[in-house]
Amino acid sequence: ILLLITITNLTSTLGKIEKWKTVVPREHTIIVNTTISNKFHNDLKTIQVASNDYGNIIHELPLAVFHPSCIQDIATLIKISYNSSVPFTIAARGQGHSTSGQAMARDGVVVDMASYRKQRNGGAISVSEDPLIGYYVDVGGEQLWIDVLYETFEHRLAPVSWTDYLYLTVGGTLSNAGISGQTFRYGPQITNVHEMDVITGKGDLVTCSSKKNSELFHALLGGLGQFGVITRARISLEPAPTWVKWVRVLYSDFSDFTKDQERLISIDGSTKNIELDFLEGMLLMQQGSINNWRSSFFPLSHHSRISSLITKHNILYCLELAKYYDHQSEKMVDKEIQVLLQGLAYIPGLHYEKNVSYVEFLNRVRSGELKLQSQGLWHVPHPWLNLFVPKSQILDFNSGVFNDIILKRNITSGIVLIYPMNKSKWDDRMSTITPDEDVFYAVGFLHSSAFNNWKAYDAQNKEILKFCNDVGIKVKQYLPNHSTEEHWKNHFGTKWRTFLETKLLFDPRMILSPGQKIFNDNT
Ligand code: FAD
Repeated sequence: ILLLITITNLTSTLGKIEKWKTVVPREHTIIVNTTISNKFHNDLKTIQVASNDYGNIIHELPLAVFHPSCIQDIATLIKISYNSSVPFTIAARGQGHSTSGQAMARDGVVVDMASYRKQRNGGAISVSEDPLIGYYVDVGGEQLWIDVLYETFEHRLAPVSWTDYLYLTVGGTLSNAGISGQTFRYGPQITNVHEMDVITGKGDLVTCSSKKNSELFHALLGGLGQFGVITRARISLEPAPTWVKWVRVLYSDFSDFTKDQERLISIDGSTKNIELDFLEGMLLMQQGSINNWRSSFFPLSHHSRISSLITKHNILYCLELAKYYDHQSEKMVDKEIQVLLQGLAYIPGLHYEKNVSYVEFLNRVRSGELKLQSQGLWHVPHPWLNLFVPKSQILDFNSGVFNDIILKRNITSGIVLIYPMNKSKWDDRMSTITPDEDVFYAVGFLHSSAFNNWKAYDAQNKEILKFCNDVGIKVKQYLPNHSTEEHWKNHFGTKWRTFLETKLLFDPRMILSPGQKIFNDNT
């Protein structure tokens, strides 16, 4: 039995919201099977949530938001669109922590993975062991990494590759890459996946791995939601440590800073050297950035020295590293840190350490989030720009971007992260695009625009991209945001053809994740 649902009349309700007054969704009819007809929602609040994201800049109105109760519901929804004479677009929305509308679906249907997560009771995260692959966890694509941590840690196990912030979904980060300070050693999250279940753009439920349906498997990882909705991922686990020695050292010279970062990520444990477990870095530019919302690290008694150094040099560079340990290795860790720091060229005396639990370390961004939430500063515009910069051009990037554009504009508020990664830990068959060099840097301008002046940051982001283009710095955007086919082709380079051909195989009617603006014109 089929039921006709006509979703219209959003304008009158949404017209009450000043900034969306001009958005007029067109009438659209979706023919749905009765088994899922009661799962569509289009009340004002639900539509509002689905037409916003962490970026809080782009707002695209869907016709409806879909609350699935099971995987079959998502398959049914996609099949209905696939078989329609005029298909409607569908976007899985993890946490909506994208910043440029990537999880939105203008005039389409947003699948609310968070509501599915809430409905699932048990079985969504399950730890097992296999003689061939060792320990692993099967996780629903809608699950949060924080819950993966809590559940696996119960078994004294954990994934090895993380993101800095854990209130992101497994399906969302695997659609990008999932990077953090562990990536240089363990690769991004996408290289730590054994297999996945996915519902393709034809509504088919497929299991894939590097051996089975490998084309789909590789395309999905970093695939920006273009090939299917990930409903399960099998992720490898290792024994979890108990404690973390967490160290920060400060530099005034960029070249010393990057040389040391590169040296640290090149250490190879197979030759009995002491290996690091985590390496990142960030810029300290204004007094407010000494202890920012993401972490307070430097003792108050050192603030005036650090401040005067920032005034003197304009920018300080903070190298951040960590070594994991447990009760057996407790006695060794200080010695190991000493060895790792030997010969580094940081400013003498500007060396800080903390001991924290492993869970506290991985979840380090949460307390800052809660603080900002309580101050009403979390749901503000976030005009972020994330780049991968080739190692050979990082000094040019420093001169032209950090030392020129950023200092001249003098508006940077928020965090600027910079850390290198080894290309050998990535898998080029996957969809994520990285520079063509053995080592490249992740540079994240994580702006937070509390005073609603996001356009100034946006202009700065554009200037940075233009500068790189003009002087030939071969950057690639991470969490990419391009609006024309030409830009996307340029982004994917030689991988564009494969990306397009795989799209035509698994989502030939261009239904999925239209907010990425790769195959759907959302202008
Ligand atoms: P969404 O934003 O909801 O979705 C992202 C894309 O994936 C959309 O196109 C969506 O349609 C698609 N999608 C969502 N779920 C699925 C699914 N199950 N199957 C297929 N496609 C799907 N990233 C890092 O790599 N490292 C970090 O350290 C990091 N830190 C962050 C810190 C903060 C505070 C924030 C807000 C973001 C951070 N990110 C980081 C970025 C994050 O990885 C992306 O926002 C990513 O999209 C995950 O967010 P999400 O789960 O909310 O996905």
